[in-house]
Amino acid sequence: MPLDRNGSAATENGVYQNGHTVHENGHTTHSNTQDFRFHSLGERGIKSVGSLLEQSLIIVSNRLPVSVKKAESGKLDIYPSVGGLATGLSSYTKNAENKWIGWPGIPSNDLSEEERRHISDELQKYNCYPVFLSQDQLNDFYNGYSNSILWPLFHDLPVTQEADDLRDRYWNAYQQVNHLFLEVILALSGTDSSVWVHDYQLMMLPAMLRSARPLENIGFFLHIPFPAAENFATNLKWGSDLVAGLLGADLVGFHVQSYLTNFLDVVEQYGMGSVDRENTRINLVDRMVQVADFPIGIDYKRYFQASKDPAVQHELFKLRNKYQGRKVILTVDRLDPSKGLVERAAAYQTLLKDNPSFRGKIVLVMLVVPSRTEIEAYKNLKIRLEALVGEINREYGTKNWIPVHYMYKSLPFERLNALYQLADVAFIVPLRDGMNLVAKEYLASKPNKDGVLVLSKTAGAAEELSDAVIVDPARSETLVNGLVKALRMPPQEFRRRADSMRKQIESSDIHNWATNFISALNLASDSPENGSPTVGLTKRQAAKLRSRFESAKSQLVFLDYDCVISPLIQIQDAESIDKFVAELNSLLKELSVSTDVVVVTGQTQSTLEEKFGNLDVTLVAEHGIFERLPGKKKWRSFRSADWQPKILVHLNKFAELTPGSEVETKDCSLVWHYENASAYDAQKHLLEIKRVITPLANVWKLDLIQGNMTLEIRPKGRCKGSTAKELVGRNSYDFVLVVGDDQEDESLFADWPDEAYTVKVGHGRTGARLRVFRPEEVLSLLRKFISSGNIFAVSA
Ligand code: UDP
Repeated sequence: MPLDRNGSAATENGVYQNGHTVHENGHTTHSNTQDFRFHSLGERGIKSVGSLLEQSLIIVSNRLPVSVKKAESGKLDIYPSVGGLATGLSSYTKNAENKWIGWPGIPSNDLSEEERRHISDELQKYNCYPVFLSQDQLNDFYNGYSNSILWPLFHDLPVTQEADDLRDRYWNAYQQVNHLFLEVILALSGTDSSVWVHDYQLMMLPAMLRSARPLENIGFFLHIPFPAAENFATNLKWGSDLVAGLLGADLVGFHVQSYLTNFLDVVEQYGMGSVDRENTRINLVDRMVQVADFPIGIDYKRYFQASKDPAVQHELFKLRNKYQGRKVILTVDRLDPSKGLVERAAAYQTLLKDNPSFRGKIVLVMLVVPSRTEIEAYKNLKIRLEALVGEINREYGTKNWIPVHYMYKSLPFERLNALYQLADVAFIVPLRDGMNLVAKEYLASKPNKDGVLVLSKTAGAAEELSDAVIVDPARSETLVNGLVKALRMPPQEFRRRADSMRKQIESSDIHNWATNFISALNLASDSPENGSPTVGLTKRQAAKLRSRFESAKSQLVFLDYDCVISPLIQIQDAESIDKFVAELNSLLKELSVSTDVVVVTGQTQSTLEEKFGNLDVTLVAEHGIFERLPGKKKWRSFRSADWQPKILVHLNKFAELTPGSEVETKDCSLVWHYENASAYDAQKHLLEIKRVITPLANVWKLDLIQGNMTLEIRPKGRCKGSTAKELVGRNSYDFVLVVGDDQEDESLFADWPDEAYTVKVGHGRTGARLRVFRPEEVLSLLRKFISSGNIFAVSA
């Protein structure tokens, strides 16, 4: 169940109308997610699970869970899907802090500028953000590299000569589109988010993202099989690039254990890291990548309860009349070479040939959903399948009996579910399938357990549904025997089997799947191997800090003001914030009697003066560009701002074109804020701004810093980290406390000697030694130093 239609479902070419195509599971019994959590991170890991959910989540998939279609009248229809993945992630995607980024299902060539903006605005209501792709990009990236090269290879199928001839072109498009996704992610998300990338169309994205944002939490889930190492390395020209792409993630998830093992084999074969098989991890030089299986499940309740739905009952009534007196064998698949549809029809033909007693008493209902209709191989498959179906019906059909009922379309949920309920046998025998949700949906739709599942051993679902009649699609006689066995199975036996599998499906539904993945991502990103303290500052550690502080001869406290104030702005009123700042001011005042204190901010000098101008401390504004030393009134500037008017002209022009955005002129930097602009305008103009400004920035030696819905332009080389270095150079300290929170503070944490106590405020990966979660904890730590009683005596 790949995510090639839309991020959760509804359609590829708009063909899946009931929109429940993509799916998941939170498999708690088979998945090793739980084991991994308790086993490798223990208590520390469990604590951090809760914290993960407080970070914003960016979901990225080829297709969005909302589709756009243009009617013949030219009207744009925008409709969300109720698909599996969308359902599983709904608790996250309802929160406006979280975003889903993907292609909206319509080529950009078909859209005017105005229509794109309209789509973007409409999608935003669902917290969805479009990546617009042209028809050429779709041809080469989607139909080409993704579906004509990767898809067959990952399903152990041959690549056609036609596709192989074009693979260099396809590969270029694949990289280009992955990069386009990267640009949208960078433009629309902050550095403190977790990003969850889905499926084979975006395998380069994790590494691209990692190099742009080294500290991001990045997860990747593959919705299709991962092939055995010998097939992967032999047949895939850019295999090592793709694996390197995946290794940019902190967590790489697969449906089942065997795909995971294949992946580890491939990593080992390419020598891309040291593989720890026991813990299913890959240790890279500077990081660890966790690998785990998360068998995707379905929205169990929706299927289980469907039998009570009057619309479903009505459909079932009609079907019962139609197929009265005959046993129904059902197949439901996209028309795809991996599904083995011709092989299935051929097995049915053999069954009728070898077992005349079944003739007239059974019927094969084949629901075949149109898929990837532009690809030649799919067109040819349709011709072959339909020819064989015709042949069977001609050969065995009678006046009263059509052996195969073939439907080439997508059915709405009610009709599909009625078919599930009607069918005596589900004949689900793909040549290879990542999971296969139809198998699970069929069983979940049968409250009376009156059905037999015949399932390929090469479908991911077979690793969970071992009570199915398991067959080997490579040996056609097993398909025929499997059908005979299913048709003759006594009710007692098929009820027992169906019951045990139904329980399995119930216990590992789509909601668990999503939660398990996100929890595991948090654990992997926050693990000590990834340089991150996973728990907050304990009482013991705080006491140790205090005692080190007490015994030190000279101390420095380096505090990033923004790290304590930004979290408060989001949750507290102005009065409480003023109170907090007043308390901070008074603590710093006391502390600064004996301790060197530096307060640093990205904000302006006047902000710092207003809050802390009365203190005898070092104030550093605009990330190190301005500095005011203790006891001085004047600020020192490290850069001239002659460049500002030249850049401002352009920024103002783009701000005008982007309603809602604004330019902030700081003393020595410029910031374009676009959080209140339409995502479409912001994203489009961000790229243009960068293109226009970059040559000027090179001349003036400026940095373009991408923030959370901001673009800051400021002189190169001056940052909090360099300020810190200078301070250490000026004095020598035997106690240093550095408190910070954002990406920029990482340079600050890195620049101190190892003995320094670096403290990160908030979530997310960090190079800091310690972590606190709330600004109040910083106050309480400072209070401890003051109340230690003898600080004034010790640090003269
Ligand atoms: N499906 C559908 N409409 C139909 C037939 C099938 O929406 O007329 C859905 C079906 O409910 C299932 C999905 O298509 O959720 C097929 O998923 P599966 O994992 O079996 O195969 P995939 O198509 O993803 O390879």
